[in-house]
Amino acid sequence: MKKFLLAAWMLCLMAGCKDPAKHIALTFDDGPNTTTTEKILDVFEKHGVVGSFFVIGDNINEESAKAMKRAIRMGCDIQNHSRTHPYMSKLTPEQIMEEVNVTQDRIEEHTGTRPTYFRAPYIDVNDTMYQLIDMIFICGEGCDDWDAKVSLEERIERTIRQAEDGQIVLLHDFHGNDATAQALEVIIPTLKEQGYEFVTVGELFRKKGITPEKGKLYSNVLKD
Ligand SMILES: [Zn+2]
Repeated sequence: MKKFLLAAWMLCLMAGCKDPAKHIALTFDDGPNTTTTEKILDVFEKHGVVGSFFVIGDNINEESAKAMKRAIRMGCDIQNHSRTHPYMSKLTPEQIMEEVNVTQDRIEEHTGTRPTYFRAPYIDVNDTMYQLIDMIFICGEGCDDWDAKVSLEERIERTIRQAEDGQIVLLHDFHGNDATAQALEVIIPTLKEQGYEFVTVGELFRKKGITPEKGKLYSNVLKD
């Protein structure tokens, strides 16, 4: 039986099949900062995993940029979550582009990378935004960890229960949201035991052999 499985695996590799492992992308909104972002990176470093950080342009300064640079050195990536975190469907086209472009420029200035993925604040999107913003729109499955009333135990339980192959997990690294960093101490080893590999959002599409499309909103790259 073992020989058969090995042969099947070799054939699959030769045929260029997609990676059969389960993959999941942990993503964090509302950073960067020198506190909670760093705590999450500490947990990532300890467990040898990566993820994606969707940052707010106005949170970027010389100090907080150090957390972005550290994330990139560790194999994580930095993506765009607007400049001022408004309800963007209420903005004019000029204001929409300013929200996106200022953040793109600040990220590039500090990290040398320019984001491909965009997550709208409050997942408030409309057709104008899809037309104007030349990026891939990301949503995700969350556990409402932006709400301080959601306990550490609930963050752990919901994230593990909801986990699925191809999923983008929506979490938050705003200053003070340390319960999420603590939750990851349990979530990461538990999902590893269940056979999950942790990747960035870009790697998630690549591992699953999916070319992301504009005009879609992705929470699970295998389903959306
Ligand atoms: Zn946000």
